[in-house]
Amino acid sequence: MAQRSRQRMAAGNWKMNTDYAEGRDLILQIIDGLQPTDVQVVLAPPFIQLRNADNLTRGVSNLNIAAQNCHQETHGAYTGEVSAAMVRSTGARYVILGHSERREYFGEDDELLSKKVQAALEQQLCPIFCCGEKLEEREADNHRATVEAQLEQGLFAAVPSEQWPQVTIAYEPVWAIGTGKTATPAQAQDMHSFIRSLVKKAYGEELAEQTTRLDGGSVKPANAADLFQQEDVDGGLVGGASLKAGDFIAIVKALEASLSEA
Ligand code: PEP
Repeated sequence: MAQRSRQRMAAGNWKMNTDYAEGRDLILQIIDGLQPTDVQVVLAPPFIQLRNADNLTRGVSNLNIAAQNCHQETHGAYTGEVSAAMVRSTGARYVILGHSERREYFGEDDELLSKKVQAALEQQLCPIFCCGEKLEEREADNHRATVEAQLEQGLFAAVPSEQWPQVTIAYEPVWAIGTGKTATPAQAQDMHSFIRSLVKKAYGEELAEQTTRLDGGSVKPANAADLFQQEDVDGGLVGGASLKAGDFIAIVKALEASLSEA
């Protein structure tokens, strides 16, 4: 297998979990357990913890902070919202956009997401853009068309070639998120290779080869190694298992081990 030039990444999406003290403890445990690594490790705590998370992790190589969302406008009368500039001012470097929970519970569609992607890039925040089909879409064999539409309308429409290197894609079949069901390594590989072909069509081969693609949906220590061995899977976006330092570190280690096997 040819050596990959793509950045490998393990990102933990904490969702609406951990209060301030619990978040601090989790970060300290993760820092404590991490060895220097070539894997990019990203932690996405709730908004209120971003600044402290950045302070705690500053100076730890390859450990960065992400927000779980941002608003598409820069400022204004949007009670309860947080702009990309505000996120950036905390020191966070990434923002997760288009997570299926945002799509499902907050009505975020690809037109809105394309604005959020632009807002993030304007603030030098790197989007981790999520896509993935629902169970009924997979059962109807519409999973490819669903993901293609999400990427074209939510992401490609918003990102010019020169900004593309800032983008990470996370493929997370909705039926696998928080359910304990995981896409098989073959299903994951099939979709990540399809996504690579879409990026190639939109941005050319060189940029497609450089684009980091994460797999998500019940990634855990027990299945991480098999997923990360797939040629087109460059890491994981991890929900539940990222809330336990030991599990998350085991996933980072599985990713690291896959580097030496590539
Ligand atoms: C997620 O929230 O992005 C996710 C994949 O969750 P889980 O790992 O819990 O399925």
